[in-house]
Amino acid sequence: MSTAIVVGSGPNGLAAAVSLAREGVEVTVLEAADTIGGGTRTSELTPGLLHDHCSATHPMAVGSPFLRTLGLDRYGLSWCVPEIDCVHPLDSGEAGVLHRSPHETAAALGGPDGRLWQRLFGTLAGSYDALAEDLMRPLQHLPAHPLRLAAFGPAALLPVAAVARLLRSEHARALFAGVAAHAFRPFHRPATAAVGLMIIGAGHRYGWPVAAGGSRAISDALAALLAELGGRIETGVRVRSLAQLPPADVVLFDLAPGAVADIMGERLPGRVARAYRRFRHGPGAFKVDFAVEGGVPWTHPAARRAGTVHLGGAYAEVARTERMIHAGRMPERPFVLVGQQYLADPQRSDGDVHPLWTYAHVPHGYDGDATEAIVGQIERFAPGFRERVLGMAVRSTAAFEAYNPNYVGGDVITGANTALQLVMRPRLAVDPYSTGVPGMFICSAASPPGAGAHGMCGANAAASALRHLRRRATGSTVSVPSGRKQT
Ligand SMILES: Cc1cc2nc3c(=O)[nH]c(=O)nc-3n(C[C@H](O)[C@H](O)[C@H](O)COP(=O)(O)OP(=O)(O)OC[C@H]3O[C@@H](n4cnc5c(N)ncnc54)[C@H](O)[C@@H]3O)c2cc1C
Repeated sequence: MSTAIVVGSGPNGLAAAVSLAREGVEVTVLEAADTIGGGTRTSELTPGLLHDHCSATHPMAVGSPFLRTLGLDRYGLSWCVPEIDCVHPLDSGEAGVLHRSPHETAAALGGPDGRLWQRLFGTLAGSYDALAEDLMRPLQHLPAHPLRLAAFGPAALLPVAAVARLLRSEHARALFAGVAAHAFRPFHRPATAAVGLMIIGAGHRYGWPVAAGGSRAISDALAALLAELGGRIETGVRVRSLAQLPPADVVLFDLAPGAVADIMGERLPGRVARAYRRFRHGPGAFKVDFAVEGGVPWTHPAARRAGTVHLGGAYAEVARTERMIHAGRMPERPFVLVGQQYLADPQRSDGDVHPLWTYAHVPHGYDGDATEAIVGQIERFAPGFRERVLGMAVRSTAAFEAYNPNYVGGDVITGANTALQLVMRPRLAVDPYSTGVPGMFICSAASPPGAGAHGMCGANAAASALRHLRRRATGSTVSVPSGRKQT
């Protein structure tokens, strides 16, 4: 029986472990923290309330071509969809409102913007499954749906600014800007529209659901399936060097490229080490989880029914503040994401006290305190919020990196979404998961298709590892001068 070690138990590490175990490989997962899950942990950050530490909203997980094959509902994972997916309020009192149905969203936008939304996103939602099959794999494969990909490609390569220019009303432009800002990139850069288009497409196909009981249900379900397949997880084991690892046929790292370079040391070929050390990380996140009595008193009624609320004002303001954080300057009023998961999943609350998930986009490694800026942005669209706060838990960029070393400088998406890193991450290579050392792979969100609790990086890396094991079983490996084996 072949053996595998997976370092890190984020959704990608667990997805890799499950993929390998399903093929009969004996898998051990080593996790530095005392609890599994990486970006999918949930706990009582304030007494009695369930807060998601990181990921909250999961259109990409529900639509994941890999997770969908696992039947994770048998292991306790169920999804709750909020009444309204997302609201982006403006100072004028108007708001962009994202419904699950593209038709309803278009009707709410009205006029030419409504017609454009329907044409663009109605079509995208219809092709989402086919597109995801191609876009959530590394670039280097024959597309299963070339025509769909060809139709999506030109729009995805545009800057956010170019797509926003097609929309006329301030609330439609702001709605698109808020979702596009999830890419953490300045809006004038090429290919920045891709992430926003995919998240909206996934949302119109699957909604913006939250996991019942918290995002930890995703990793708990994967771990339960792994255990059933005979896999093991050891927590409290921080891997610092290869010498620490038990012998195994394949090793997969659910880690940032710099950490892989540190751990592999001299074993990593020089060109790969240089590429991993050059890997670019993006801006940071500053997170505040609140305990709020009676919920947030949003001025706009739709925001009181929405799972997610984006705060940053009009398009021009969001574009400016995203540009600032990218340039290392902290805006007075940063872009803030607010999660009200309890609306769809009331078990997270304690009576009339509710957990509110928020984070602000801040510069990479920002060492200030953004708590007041976050409270200010909420007060701007929900006067009286401050008086309802009963407790809070704060996580700065440094605290994020201490909590999970994959979040370098508070970069919670493990790698900047530059045009190059969007399609070729973590380095230019025929197999982006290969570390260049046969049998050793990277499987974190730093590899394709990037951030999100969809498990696709892990599943794709596991496919590379399985190909390696099969080639080795048929004896098609060759010696290389260093004495290492290469396939
Ligand atoms: C604030 C925030 C909000 C987010 N919102 C969303 C969202 O709404 N929807 C969404 O889909 N995604 C969201 N994400 C992103 C998502 O959580 C990540 O992209 C995803 O978790 C990446 O998974 P991963 O398996 O690659 O790595 P991670 O989840 O980062 O897991 C890596 C694991 O490796 C462990 N580890 C690190 N170093 C070592 C070591 N040396 N030895 C052993 N173990 C180690 C870590 O402890 C961790 O458990 C969010 C993230 C954050 C932080």
